[in-house]
Amino acid sequence: GFLTVAPESARERAGAVDRRVKDGSLPLAGVPVAVKDNICTRSLRTTCGSKILEHYIPPYSATVVERLEEAGAIVIGKANCDEFAMGSSTENSAFHVTRNPFDRERVSGGSSGGSAVAVAAGMAPLALGSETGGSVRQPASFRNVVGLKPTYGRVSRYGLVAYASSLDCVAPLANNPRDVALLLRCIAGRDERDSTSAAAPVPDYPAEIEKPVRGMRLGVPKEFFGKGLEPEVKAIIETGIRNAASLGCELVDVSLPHTEYAIADYYIIAPAEASSNLARYDGVRYGYRVPAPQDLLDMYKRTRSQGFGAEVKRRIMIGTYALSSGYYEAYYGRAMRVRTLIKRDYDRAFDKVDALLSPVSPTPAFRIGEKISDPLAMYLSDIYTVTANLAGIPALSVPCGFTAGGLPVGLQMLAGQFREDRLLRLADAYMRAFPASA
Ligand code: GLN
Repeated sequence: GFLTVAPESARERAGAVDRRVKDGSLPLAGVPVAVKDNICTRSLRTTCGSKILEHYIPPYSATVVERLEEAGAIVIGKANCDEFAMGSSTENSAFHVTRNPFDRERVSGGSSGGSAVAVAAGMAPLALGSETGGSVRQPASFRNVVGLKPTYGRVSRYGLVAYASSLDCVAPLANNPRDVALLLRCIAGRDERDSTSAAAPVPDYPAEIEKPVRGMRLGVPKEFFGKGLEPEVKAIIETGIRNAASLGCELVDVSLPHTEYAIADYYIIAPAEASSNLARYDGVRYGYRVPAPQDLLDMYKRTRSQGFGAEVKRRIMIGTYALSSGYYEAYYGRAMRVRTLIKRDYDRAFDKVDALLSPVSPTPAFRIGEKISDPLAMYLSDIYTVTANLAGIPALSVPCGFTAGGLPVGLQMLAGQFREDRLLRLADAYMRAFPASA
């Protein structure tokens, strides 16, 4: 699950925390944390799962890493991920695939597959991943842990290597909602170095979790149960929904009519932003540079051809095309308007309900190699997760059950902007009442 481990610096920091702990209380004193390899760590290699950054050592740490370290946490290593977080299986990592111990021939999900593994395997009780379109919820679902995608802007993106800036979020993973609450409390809040970070006060999430869930209204969006959803997954999720209702909550049917455009929408916006963000890897400033270039253009071309993997190149090409003059309005412009419609669907739903329940992924963990040569099939697996990113709302995955083959399935819970408190409370009540067991 790791691309780089940091035993010396971890030991050193643990010693320093030990000394500090004596004169004050640190919320995460000595707690090991795994950090996805697209989050910058000062003096610790940060590859983004890419050859182009294979030897990159950041001169600074992301705000989230600084905040965790101030809270006493110890970064133990950098977790494997799809290259630049583009993918749903970690098969796009330039270094290795992260396997799923529930079935070693299957993926751990992605792009934050390594972070989910670190938590599931007990290597670290807490991990940071990132989300652009489901990269924490989906691996959490495939690995039977809890993964939360916060509201856009809830957590600083400073030092998170940019994929699609209007969608990217740093996102926590842990074994239970209480640990996620603790982690979120430490990393959330305004950061002067990220102008899109929100000034809204940070609730005391661990305290909010204690409040009752009785009386909550839970919506079930019918568009999330259509064709493509594997019957076995559907049955597990339906049981999960009935269980959630039995906590004293009311179920309400809701409709999110623009869901059918979500994949097309996301796979215009995300590559468009990626093609712009990844222009910086040109061999001049960061990472890999091809040896002995003939001239500047040759250096750009060969550096990028050799440094980027196939999926990243595919996204850059799609995105560049979508943004090219003459097509900008037809693709990116239209996609941004559809995004507004998707967000409005959610606004309407949350007028009526406190949270929504749905599957995280249409299938359990799929086989290594099963979708890698069929990008469209891979993209379609993100159908239930990308809308939360497009709308900017918080959503999480909580363990829900197992297939007959022993593969875990997560239940998705979604709420309105800045209602992470509500999601964590519901997930905690749910998980304590119905612990998923194989
Ligand atoms: N699978 C999606 C993609 O490839 C989401 C990735 C993510 O959330 N980082 O873009």
